[in-house]
Amino acid sequence: MRLGIDLDGVVADFDNCWLDRYHSEFGGERMSTPIEWDGLHRLTHFPDMPAFWDWVRLRRIFRQLEPIPGALAGLRSLAADGHDIVIISAKFDWAIPETLEWIAEHRLPTREIHFRGDKHEVACDVYLDDSPIALPNFVKERPEALVCRMVAPWNTPIDGAVDIPDWDRFLTVVADREPVGDVAQR
Ligand SMILES: [Mg+2]
Repeated sequence: MRLGIDLDGVVADFDNCWLDRYHSEFGGERMSTPIEWDGLHRLTHFPDMPAFWDWVRLRRIFRQLEPIPGALAGLRSLAADGHDIVIISAKFDWAIPETLEWIAEHRLPTREIHFRGDKHEVACDVYLDDSPIALPNFVKERPEALVCRMVAPWNTPIDGAVDIPDWDRFLTVVADREPVGDVAQR
């Protein structure tokens, strides 16, 4: 099957990386993990999100992320089982080179990488994402696909999506899924 896999919040731990970096650079109490999708700057001294993203860009934070536990082994296991790993990530243009470096460093078993916001345009049999914007679009636009919500404080259960608390669960859900149609032909 074609498995459409998001990066941040699914394979790469953006939040803990930027929080650690912010704390070491600006001091103060280590903030807790964000619970909201938007408005990360409100956890910082930055006046708005453009200022926050400027800091993320200048520090090349997307190059320094730790993998999420179980993600790399999980991807390799799925690839070894014959599935196609299709990376689908919404990224700023400036983050793409360092994200490609990160993918190479961690030897993600993929031959197909998409950087785009309208993720549902990439046809897959299964999607795994944590975005409260992308998940409803997958359910609506790809009704034939299995949509998996990586459970996070910034998303909520969605009718038509399966809740995934960790990578072990994702591997089980994929193993239980029979391919529907021939998505590769589209
Ligand atoms: Mg994400």
